[in-house]
Amino acid sequence: MIRTALRYHRPSTAAEVSELLLQHDGDVAVLGGGTQLLPQMNRDQVHVSNLVDLRGLGLREIVATDDELTLEALVTYSDVLLSRDVADAAPHVQRVSRGVTGGKQLRNTGTLAGSACFAMPGSDMPAALVGLQAQYRLHGPRGARMVKASDFYTAAFATTLGPGEFVEAIVIPRGTGSTGYCKVKHSSGSWPIATATATISETEARVTLGSVQAIPLQIDVTDLIGSNETRRIDDAVLRERITAAVTDPWTDVLAPGSYRARVAGTVAARAFTELEGSLA
Ligand SMILES: Cc1cc2nc3c(=O)[nH]c(=O)nc-3n(C[C@H](O)[C@H](O)[C@H](O)COP(=O)(O)OP(=O)(O)OC[C@H]3O[C@@H](n4cnc5c(N)ncnc54)[C@H](O)[C@@H]3O)c2cc1C
Repeated sequence: MIRTALRYHRPSTAAEVSELLLQHDGDVAVLGGGTQLLPQMNRDQVHVSNLVDLRGLGLREIVATDDELTLEALVTYSDVLLSRDVADAAPHVQRVSRGVTGGKQLRNTGTLAGSACFAMPGSDMPAALVGLQAQYRLHGPRGARMVKASDFYTAAFATTLGPGEFVEAIVIPRGTGSTGYCKVKHSSGSWPIATATATISETEARVTLGSVQAIPLQIDVTDLIGSNETRRIDDAVLRERITAAVTDPWTDVLAPGSYRARVAGTVAARAFTELEGSLA
């Protein structure tokens, strides 16, 4: 049960959203799909007296250009899964969205921007977006600014969003290379324990780990690509590189940090195996 008196705001411009967020700073939350926020309020874990619903702004468009794909703040997992533009410009986003649990209700309601802003270490989407070199378009009292997803996360459940700021859109560049994905979890319905987005482009190879540390961890493995045409990465060497990079693993009820550190190399190697399959 939500125990506080609530004021529901439904502004119709980004400037009004920022004004409300600033005016009630510390006592306000942006409402996306509400799939995290509302249960937290019900459980008395979040106490705010003001909710700012973004629905008055629309913000549910998916826009593809030759250079990038833009997912506005209220784009849901279902929107992404049904979009030809996403399939064409950023199939990895569909790949990851397909694996998010919670059933139709969650897919029809939960937004990618909500997942990005919740900044939970165990979520799929933040690290996947970092791996795709996405940027977030923030709107605040001084207008809009772009922030790289890789610079957005500062700690578990913490971001660079300042007073009055919210995420208006996620912008994903095209042409960042081929991707593979792997995650480990307890059961089909559970949250990830470790995820890996593997990317190879003409110029670089990278692994982005999610759920393994408090914030997404990027590891450059360009030097490990073989000179042969298959561009394969040696599994054992990759595992060693990943294990060395995980210095501060995340612990929660699902798994201790020591377990996450141990599986990270294997998850990364499997993500590369999937990627190599798509290149073959
Ligand atoms: C049953 C269940 C299973 C799930 N399984 C998975 C899973 O397998 N993998 C996974 O990664 N996730 C999983 N999730 C989490 C899911 O991805 C998130 O709940 C969802 O994406 C959050 O989006 P939302 O729009 O509902 O966010 P909300 O609940 O509305 O908001 C979440 C937080 O972000 C803030 N916020 C939302 N939008 C914005 C914005 N535009 N700007 C600034 N702040 C904003 C809110 O104020 C709040 O603090 C699961 C959730 C449930 C309930």
